[in-house]
Amino acid sequence: MSTTDDLRRIFKACVVNPVAIDRANSYDPGYLVVKGDKIEQLSRDDPRQAMPSAKFIDFGKKTIVPGFVDTHVHFPQFGIMGVGAGELLTWLKTYTYPEETRFADPEYAAMVGRRFFDALVVNGTTTAAIYSSVHEKATDIAFSLARTKGIRAFIGKVMMDRNSPPALLEGTDESIAASLRLFERWDGADNGRLRYVFTPRFAGSCSMELMMQVGKIAQDRNAFVQSHLSENSGEVGWIRQLFPNLPSYTAVYDSAGMLNEQSIMAHCIHLSADEIAGLSSRGVSVAFCPYSNRMLHSGTMPYRRLRSAGLNISLGSDVAGSPSLAMLDQMREAMTAAEISWSEALYLATLGGAKALGLSDRIGNFEAGKDADFVVVDDDVVREVYVRGVRVL
Ligand SMILES: [Zn+2]
Repeated sequence: MSTTDDLRRIFKACVVNPVAIDRANSYDPGYLVVKGDKIEQLSRDDPRQAMPSAKFIDFGKKTIVPGFVDTHVHFPQFGIMGVGAGELLTWLKTYTYPEETRFADPEYAAMVGRRFFDALVVNGTTTAAIYSSVHEKATDIAFSLARTKGIRAFIGKVMMDRNSPPALLEGTDESIAASLRLFERWDGADNGRLRYVFTPRFAGSCSMELMMQVGKIAQDRNAFVQSHLSENSGEVGWIRQLFPNLPSYTAVYDSAGMLNEQSIMAHCIHLSADEIAGLSSRGVSVAFCPYSNRMLHSGTMPYRRLRSAGLNISLGSDVAGSPSLAMLDQMREAMTAAEISWSEALYLATLGGAKALGLSDRIGNFEAGKDADFVVVDDDVVREVYVRGVRVL
């Protein structure tokens, strides 16, 4: 005879549950009860007597944390991770654009994509906001691979209609049309676990006309938008030349209608007080990428100022700006760059990311009813990964 206990598993470990930016609850030991694909409860008391036929898994001294959320990563740069040096604009021209050009070939895109999605899971990332290349087919491939892996993914083809190498340059209408086709095919697919995210690469590679169309389309369709903002001081100076009539880099995106609660802006390093206030009033989320910022000598994001302004902050690996997909590495970098505790860095890598993606009611911590996405960590190494209760590593 089967009972509901057959669907239940009790995982015992040191469980860390982020509940707010300044608070994570530790259970040592804790008992995480998973029923089917959802979290049923987390307690300090041993629930085995009340659930006699539940399967019991003891992780001893290992730690369980929620599945990681990477809110800024470039899948076509996975093959050049750890390659290259220099600052942003030179790095893009020398290493990144030539590599992304290769994604016109679907076989190459599939080969790198398989390794990329495998590596996400190996590193405990169960949800990610991903930049594809400009190519529609490569973006389809990325969605298919995310679906196969079962992870939640927000993916967008990058849009580039000016100041880009000829092999990557798109016409404005062509870029919009391809993005809309991808949105229609993928947004909400796999029971809502896949979302399309409009991805104008950055103001340097996009015309105002393109960005204004993106702003309107995304608002009309309640869609997500992701881009880069104020990463490097050379870049900021160039954007000011490109848009001389606008007061700031942030104002470029704002006048295009791209800034709202469904916008994720990566980096946000060299911002004025007015820009920070503007981002905050629009409810924009900031993807903090400290490892990438260090590697590309971009500067240090003013974490305290952004946090005090009430901005939602999450973490991004920004591969290949950083040489690691591991969110544990990004957490370590965040602790140094922002002078925060491990538990605050964990919040940024989990619940902060869930909030950025509008998913804090489904993932990000161990509240009852959320997806059973979690990672077993030992000695700062990911040992096992579960996605909706299914062990995937
Ligand atoms: Zn990036």
